[in-house]
Amino acid sequence: MDLSPDLALIAGTGIEAWPFEQARSYVLPTPYGDVGLQVARFAGEDLVVIARHGPGHSLPPHRVNSRGMIWALKSLGVTKVVASSAVGAVDPALHPGDLRVIDDLIDFTRQRPLTFFDAPGQVRHVDMTAAYCPMLSRLLKKAIGQPAAAAPLVYAAMEGPRFETPAEIRALAQLGAHVVGMTQAPEVTLAREAGLCYSAVAVVTNPAAGLAKEPIEESAIYAVLAKALDRFQQSFAAFLGELSRVAACQSCPDAEAGLFPLLNLDGTIQKGV
Ligand SMILES: [Zn+2]
Repeated sequence: MDLSPDLALIAGTGIEAWPFEQARSYVLPTPYGDVGLQVARFAGEDLVVIARHGPGHSLPPHRVNSRGMIWALKSLGVTKVVASSAVGAVDPALHPGDLRVIDDLIDFTRQRPLTFFDAPGQVRHVDMTAAYCPMLSRLLKKAIGQPAAAAPLVYAAMEGPRFETPAEIRALAQLGAHVVGMTQAPEVTLAREAGLCYSAVAVVTNPAAGLAKEPIEESAIYAVLAKALDRFQQSFAAFLGELSRVAACQSCPDAEAGLFPLLNLDGTIQKGV
C-alpha cells in the first residue's frame, strides 16, 4: 500500500499504550531525522499513529521530534491530526481522568526547534487566531461529551521535564491557563505551519503543584492514564463516527504548495502528483 490514510493520531503519554490491531510499522526519513509510525485500523478506519515519545516512551518532552512528526504526517498526505496530551489541572474544577479538548495555548517553552521556516529568506508568520482546528475540536467535544458552549480551555506549555512550582501554577492560573503540560508547543504551531487540521485532547492526570496535599507522583499519574485509555478509545471511536458525517474543514488554511513533498510510506516520492 502506498497512499497513507488521511487521519493521524499523535499518541501522548499513556495513550501510546493503545494496542492497535492490524498495525503495520514504518520508519520514514525526514529532514529532521527518522520518524517511526504505524498504519493501524480502528473502528473501520485506517489511520496513521505516531507515539510522540518514541518507542518505549524513550524521548523526554523537550527532546520530542515535533518537526519530524509533523513533516512526516504532512508529507504522507495526512490532513487531519488528533493528539492526546497528559496535563496537570491548573483549574481546580478539573479532576484526574477528565478528558477536555484544548482550545488555545500559551507557549512558555524556551529551547525547542519551533518552526519549519528558519532559513534566511524563508520568513513566514502563521496566524494562530484559531490554533486548533474548529471542526475537529467541535467533533471531539461532542465525542467526549464536553459542552460546546463551555469556556475555552487554555493549555500552558512548559519546557519541563521537571514539573512546575506552586508559584508558577499560581501565575499560570492568573494568566488564564486551565491545564499545564509539556508537549503542545511547538506541535500545534508546526501543524498550523504545515496547513494541517490539528486538535488535541488533554488527559488530566493530577492537580498541578500546590493544588493537592501530596507531591506529584509519576506512578499515580500512570495509574490515572491506564484508566483514561479506555475512555479515550471510546471517545475516539465516537469521534470517527462523527467525522464520517461531515464535509471537509473550511477553516484551516493549507500550507503553500511545494513546501512539503508527497511521500509514500517507504519514503519514496509519490509519482503522478
Ligand atoms: Zn481544520
